[in-house]
Amino acid sequence: MKIRFWGTRGSLPVAITTDAIEAKIFKAIRASRAYPLETDESIITFIRKELPFSVRGSYGGNTSCVELSGQEEYVLCDAGTGLRDFGNYFMKTGLTGRQDFPKVFHIFISHLHWDHIQGFPFFTPAFIPGNQINIHGHHADLEKIFVNQQNAPSFPVPLKAMRADISFHIMEPGKTYEIAGMNVSGIKQNHPGDSYGYCFIQGNKKIVYSTDSEHKEDAEDDDYAFIEFYKNADLLIFDAQYTLLDAVDTKENWGHSSNLVAVELAVRAGVKRLCLFHSEHTYDDESLTKFLQNTREYLKIHDDSSDLEIHLAYDGMEIEIG
Ligand SMILES: [Zn+2]
Ligand SMILES: [Zn+2]
Repeated sequence: MKIRFWGTRGSLPVAITTDAIEAKIFKAIRASRAYPLETDESIITFIRKELPFSVRGSYGGNTSCVELSGQEEYVLCDAGTGLRDFGNYFMKTGLTGRQDFPKVFHIFISHLHWDHIQGFPFFTPAFIPGNQINIHGHHADLEKIFVNQQNAPSFPVPLKAMRADISFHIMEPGKTYEIAGMNVSGIKQNHPGDSYGYCFIQGNKKIVYSTDSEHKEDAEDDDYAFIEFYKNADLLIFDAQYTLLDAVDTKENWGHSSNLVAVELAVRAGVKRLCLFHSEHTYDDESLTKFLQNTREYLKIHDDSSDLEIHLAYDGMEIEIG
């Protein structure tokens, strides 16, 4: 199974600025002085091998959307602005590459905040008759909120103008559903208006998507429900929007968690790979790189025998769960 991250930014989309691009170019040219870059190949090698990610790339700015690929049917978590890029990718590859059209999509919605649904009006496959789009979630007003998002005066194209077969499915937390060849279950999370994490099990592989979730003092309890929910996950995608200082100082009760809580819970649950997700929208590429380094250093302090892998999600990142 391959996990593709189409949108990873928390709360609202961000775009890289001209000043930030100029700063990256400056750093790249300065770093290139020691290298003879006479051929195109040597330039490409230099970019890929010598420049750090914060100079050659960017963590990106789309809001939450993660694809679990490898199934017959498309499976996605959340419909943030990353869903638009997934839809565009599908339009380029999906129609021509496979004969089994129409296509079936499953989108699991963590909650109804804008940043988790705002990509749907721009999801091109939803305009194509014959496509079957299943929107799964735990909130009773799931359909109403999707409809309202596209009603006047908020948006010019109502949901009913989208010609695909779009249906809404309300799930119950704790119940296991068989969807797209996987066992899927949800857990209620602490977040304004509630949010839900999702656990996907296929064969002996387990992926957990757990964003927009604040873990408080009861996270230290031995029987804390999330330890079981995360238990032995091959990949845990975890809301780590804040540093610990943010989380306990100015942003307590905003419904998000810190990178340190992420490490502590992942270690206790025996998780194999932790992916920090829903990055703070005010952090630039340099500060996110530092944030990732700090998180890895904290793991060594917290448990130096742990072989937990830690990633920080960026738009376009892929993780193969072999
Ligand atoms: Zn969010
Ligand atoms: Zn939220």
